[in-house]
Amino acid sequence: MRDSLYTVLNMAIHWAVQYERYQRFATEEFLLREGGVMCPAPGCGEGIVPEDTRRIQCVRPECQRYPQFENPDSPDGF
Ligand SMILES: [Zn+2]
Repeated sequence: MRDSLYTVLNMAIHWAVQYERYQRFATEEFLLREGGVMCPAPGCGEGIVPEDTRRIQCVRPECQRYPQFENPDSPDGF
């Protein structure tokens, strides 16, 4: 009985991890297609889609001290 409970728990964890990976992959795929990037700050993984901004910056304030990206599609050619 105990063993089967552990098996169920392990399976649940396994699938949770798979789902998390799939989510991440799907998000990245979507981002890249939209011309976006992932935040470079460790442990963030926030997706950033450039709009009309010259600089592409993560929305999280704690990430803004990390180097951000220049937008190559900027109208100013920056
Ligand atoms: Zn970030």
